[in-house]
Amino acid sequence: MNPLSYSQLISNISSGEVKSLLLIPKRRQVIVTLNNGSKEIVSILPDDQQILEVAKISNVPLEVKDVREEEAMAGMLGNLGLVVIVVLGLSFLLRRSAQAANRAMGFTRTDARLKPLTSIDIRFEDVEGIDDAKLELEEVITFLRHPETFTKLGAKIPKGVLLVGLPGTGKTLLAKAIAGEAGVPFFSIAGSEFVELFVGVGASRVRDMFKKAKEKSPCLIFIDEIDSVGRQRGAGIGGGNDEREQTLNQLLTEMDGFADNSGVIVLAATNRADVLDTALMRPGRFDRTIFVNLPDKKGREGILSVHARSRPLADEVRLSDWALRTPGFSGAQLSNLLNEAAILTARENKTQITNKQIEFALERITLGLASPPLQDDSKKRLIAYHEIGHALVAAHMPHADKVDKVSILPRTGGIGGFTRFWPDEEAIDSGLFSKNYLFARLVVALGGRAAELIVFGPNEITQGASSDLQNVSSIAREMVTKFGFSPLGPIALETGNKQVFLGKNLIQTKPTYADSTGKVIDEQVRTLANTAMLKAVGILESQREVMDKLVDVLIVEETLNAEQFRRLAELEHMPQN
Ligand code: ADP
Ligand code: ZN
Repeated sequence: MNPLSYSQLISNISSGEVKSLLLIPKRRQVIVTLNNGSKEIVSILPDDQQILEVAKISNVPLEVKDVREEEAMAGMLGNLGLVVIVVLGLSFLLRRSAQAANRAMGFTRTDARLKPLTSIDIRFEDVEGIDDAKLELEEVITFLRHPETFTKLGAKIPKGVLLVGLPGTGKTLLAKAIAGEAGVPFFSIAGSEFVELFVGVGASRVRDMFKKAKEKSPCLIFIDEIDSVGRQRGAGIGGGNDEREQTLNQLLTEMDGFADNSGVIVLAATNRADVLDTALMRPGRFDRTIFVNLPDKKGREGILSVHARSRPLADEVRLSDWALRTPGFSGAQLSNLLNEAAILTARENKTQITNKQIEFALERITLGLASPPLQDDSKKRLIAYHEIGHALVAAHMPHADKVDKVSILPRTGGIGGFTRFWPDEEAIDSGLFSKNYLFARLVVALGGRAAELIVFGPNEITQGASSDLQNVSSIAREMVTKFGFSPLGPIALETGNKQVFLGKNLIQTKPTYADSTGKVIDEQVRTLANTAMLKAVGILESQREVMDKLVDVLIVEETLNAEQFRRLAELEHMPQN
């Protein structure tokens, strides 16, 4: 259809074909709505009068639209938009810089980290295996619950308690349990969060935290990794750290500043009390130190049972066995053990955790992930002899630990195979190891190398024994220098703790013995190792046939459990040592 012409429009209006007209003078246009609903735009003359008349005569409704108004509106809106954007943008910028300034000035009062936990559902019964620490902290709970009982008697309650223990021993858990038992708010912050880019932020954060805590008293503040702020001042490489010192000073000021019995108790955790600034330990500050030790066997069983509460175990699982097999595990590692086992169980679509999954989890945690079995037969053979060497020597040393499992399944991280022992429950619990036991450890550790030597000859021995040898050196050295187990006599020549932490003890301490004594120590260590080696070789030579048979089976089976091993090693008639 052709566009409507002006003259056509006039005639259409006259003939009544047009429904309505919308005149837009500024654009010199008229928008025509025809009777059939379709619309046309027709140009008109400036100040057109004719169309007005025609429309009037024909009684066609005509509207005039003043677009100027519209445009003015649109223009205003446009400007307004700009203004709005500018204002928003400005305030955004302002806010950003205000935030930065606040952060630098320490005015971040809305800091989410300073919000306390108020309803903690952790209780003392969820913490197992660290009974000593629990006992000492019971008093703190009573205080938080009924401070009046103490204040009435004029008793002073420690403001600060330092929890010292390895990572994962349950320090955080313990602190939470105290807050949970007492039903008080729990503020928690890590020492590293205090140490920020800007000098002074840490200090103001400390100030804020104490202010908030006092408002909520009675309550508990938990500072994790306090060593990251509380290090010996002026120590460490490159001199002091201004920010850390300011933070520490602020912490000390706050602790001195709040009145005794104000209802705020600060618990701080660290695994290196030895690097802490002594000022922290003064009376009225952290004047109580509680050691949180690794759990003993009974403790481990308790921790396992806490974490087994929420996990369905098969009837065959005896947690006491698993507690025995996990010496040196922290609470966190034990919890992880059951968690890994639960994951494996879920993956196998089973409904109950059995010994098999826990075993798997234990090996994954202690040895790393399993890698595919070795294809190279001669390597497999060598590793089998090495591991059987350890196991067989252990079986024939009266004071050695019992063999639990031998395996030649490799692990990622370079472990070719392993021999696992049942640790001596009593020795581990009491912490007392006899000279006989330690010597047996040396012989067993050298069993692998001894087997390689006998079977493959002195030139084919491998470096696979290197970690065994390191074990031997450190045990033998301790026997000589610390425990007085050598002809050198009952003197301790080296102190117990290895002081290799940063800051306080970068400078090596000098040994407390003369150079000539050092030589004698080396000789004694060597003698011990050589004697142990001879013993291991002697045992394996007398057991050569049994060793060969065991190796043949191990190569096929790839792992032997305690029972299989005892049967094949012809140990059934022997008493279990
Ligand atoms: P830490 O603060 O000493 O590093 P955590 O308290 O954070 O250790 O421990 C981590 C987790 O390990 C806890 O949440 C808990 O599940 C488990 N755990 C650690 N110690 C124990 C314990 N003594 N009893 C029960 N569970 C524990
Ligand atoms: Zn070995």
